[in-house]
Amino acid sequence: MAQTIEIKNGYVFDPLNEIDGEKMDIFIRDGKVVSELFESEIRNAKSIDAKGMTVMPGGVDSHSHIAGAKVNVGRIMRPEDSYKWARGKTALTHSGSGYTVPSVYLEGYEYSQMGYTTVFEAAVPPLEARHTHEEMRSIPMIDTGGYLVLGNNWFIMRYLRDGDIERAANYVAWMMKTHKTYGIKCVNPAGVENWGWARNVGSLDEANIHFDISPREIIHGLCEINELLGMPMSMHLHCNNLGQPGCCDITRESLAIPNKIKANQNLDVEWAETKIDSKRMQSVYLTHAQFNSFGGTSWGDFESGTKDIIDYVNKTDFIVMDSGCVPFGEATVMTGDGPAIHNLYALTGNKWSNTDIEMECGSGVIPFTYLKANPIHSVQWAMGLELLLMVEDVWKSIMTTDHPNGGTFLKYPQIIAWLMSQEAREKTFGECHAWARDRSDLGGVDRELSLYDIAILTRANPARTVGISHRKGSLGIGADGDVTIYNIDPTKLNTRNYEQVISNFEQAEYTIKDGQVVSQQGEIKMIPEKRTYYSDITVKDEGEKEMLLDVKEWFKYYTVGFANYPTPEKYLMNPTPIKVNNER
Ligand SMILES: [Zn+2]
Repeated sequence: MAQTIEIKNGYVFDPLNEIDGEKMDIFIRDGKVVSELFESEIRNAKSIDAKGMTVMPGGVDSHSHIAGAKVNVGRIMRPEDSYKWARGKTALTHSGSGYTVPSVYLEGYEYSQMGYTTVFEAAVPPLEARHTHEEMRSIPMIDTGGYLVLGNNWFIMRYLRDGDIERAANYVAWMMKTHKTYGIKCVNPAGVENWGWARNVGSLDEANIHFDISPREIIHGLCEINELLGMPMSMHLHCNNLGQPGCCDITRESLAIPNKIKANQNLDVEWAETKIDSKRMQSVYLTHAQFNSFGGTSWGDFESGTKDIIDYVNKTDFIVMDSGCVPFGEATVMTGDGPAIHNLYALTGNKWSNTDIEMECGSGVIPFTYLKANPIHSVQWAMGLELLLMVEDVWKSIMTTDHPNGGTFLKYPQIIAWLMSQEAREKTFGECHAWARDRSDLGGVDRELSLYDIAILTRANPARTVGISHRKGSLGIGADGDVTIYNIDPTKLNTRNYEQVISNFEQAEYTIKDGQVVSQQGEIKMIPEKRTYYSDITVKDEGEKEMLLDVKEWFKYYTVGFANYPTPEKYLMNPTPIKVNNER
């Protein structure tokens, strides 16, 4: 398979190398970016003329729900999601259906057609890791990895309560290896475990009813463990009280908890060349910030609460957040935060699913439609955009919809248009409930993001934030040959014509993965190899042994045997461990 390719004459946007629309050629040999090709190679290489087009690294989605038990529950619960959105098979592709929760094949094709090559599953419950990997393995076209849900894990809560940070760190390292997962996810710490007893937590200092440990202690502990181990990504946080009016206060307070913990990413990997530091700088990664930034005190005086969060992020440098935008339309809300979904069920009466996963976590799923006429939804739309437009340094934010919670990833092009065009925003204000303007600051924002900014939000920064920038999110020498070419001439770009911007981003002219054209103008051209990344953390043998004695003892409470707990490598497609050097 030819993996040698030249991309000529395009306008390149590669923020990790500070390349802002420069006209240049990109060369890929054996699937990796190189500085040049020999004459003899060029004769045999595939050549693409990208004249008058925009060239970016392949898209990276750092937070999306694409695989695992709750995604599948969403599919099962929602046959109506497949009625109007289905695709037949071709000689190369499987058939598939599902709009907000597509089948695994469709997920891969649709991401690829938009120019994405790497997507991280945002929540893997340990006991469901096998299933998650089985689904991820079946998603074609994109490299994947998953974040392990640990914020309500019994072992973590016990070890942290006892002040045994070493043992907790050994446990996390072992869990990453055992379940072949990539980073630490913390969802409504202490609250999800209480939900098993129909309770939640209301503040950062309200202790869990059985483990006597508070959300504050869990957040601090997991951030500390994360940096002690030198993990690729920082601790990935879904705050308490999510989706409740006024939750912006607890979010702002939660973000301050790790303010003294310094980022310590310590990877033993080959780094692609980049001009700016491609190591992550932050020690906490706040996810779907929009859902964590509700203002007001009730639904009656609901308003955007993003200002406090944005001000805090602007003046500190240890936080990155993704937006969790709401682009209107159909969604399926699914999260490890069982009580948050129950609240939504109580509010809407929509069909609802709740899962409790023994000793580890839980989840909830509910179908949801965001309407422009709905006052709350219209403010949520404005909030998602505020979070991307009012954070001064673009390197502190990432564009997501928390797919499929705020909406499907298929709406990314629509969000890009709103970010690049004030006129597009004004048009939507005109169609929205008046609250959108009255109860947010978005109306006063005249910032319009550039293609360079968009490249930061959709590839460079998600890659750096989750610690995969040694190979993704840049076009530096040594990076993976993942490239997207959009049919956009930056010298003629008119963002007032935002409908055109949307259609250009909906369908990449070319998506190239590992130096091969995998999709072109919406047509899948080949099914490339894909990889699954996970963190392989070295820890001292004695520490691990001692910790495992305790863990095995507790397995008498599990319904699975200890030997059946781990996820074997064969469940992964091309397992690709990221070596983490733990210098303790
Ligand atoms: Zn999520």
